[in-house]
Amino acid sequence: MGNIRVLDKEFKIYISEETIKARIAEIATSIREDLADKNPLFIVVLNGAFIFAADLLRETNIACEINFIRLSSYEGTNSTGKMKNIMGLDKNIEGRSVVIVEDIIDTGLTMEYLCKTIAKSNPAEIRIASLFVKPGKLQTDIKTDYKCFDIDNDFIVGYGLDYDGVGRNLKNIYKISETEQE
Ligand code: 5GP
Repeated sequence: MGNIRVLDKEFKIYISEETIKARIAEIATSIREDLADKNPLFIVVLNGAFIFAADLLRETNIACEINFIRLSSYEGTNSTGKMKNIMGLDKNIEGRSVVIVEDIIDTGLTMEYLCKTIAKSNPAEIRIASLFVKPGKLQTDIKTDYKCFDIDNDFIVGYGLDYDGVGRNLKNIYKISETEQE
């Protein structure tokens, strides 16, 4: 089970399913302790976070609501040149304890945009849960309240994360082989 091929690239095992699940159980305990009596609204960012969210929310095992959103990017004329739409955002956010559930925070720009947009609906609080953070790539100072793993800058697949649409259903996390990196 060492190396695998996804499309045209070679990947090697990085984090096992068992290790991921054990860590998810730990952060689920923290979420339960913090939010059990607040009926939180979990906002899950599709597609990548679907497996993480399914495991995390069952482990958390508290009364909650779950909202699935998707981001669509399009070229625009604002300062960054890129603009995003949030599709499927729940209207019922005012006064709620919101937890955004994301697969991976890379530059952090997506999460910063999500937080700013959701904040306009006046939630009581916004917390962030992410399976992975790449601290070496961060360009924002967002704080990840519930983080499973800090990882290095290499590209990963599996456990919900894809390479060009493929690999989301891999049970472990795989990292691109050194020889494949440009
Ligand atoms: P950010 O706005 O933080 O730069 O981008 C976050 C998004 O980039 C994630 O939701 C994910 O779609 C994508 N991403 C960043 N790093 C990786 C990676 O190593 N593997 C995969 N599959 N996607 C990544």
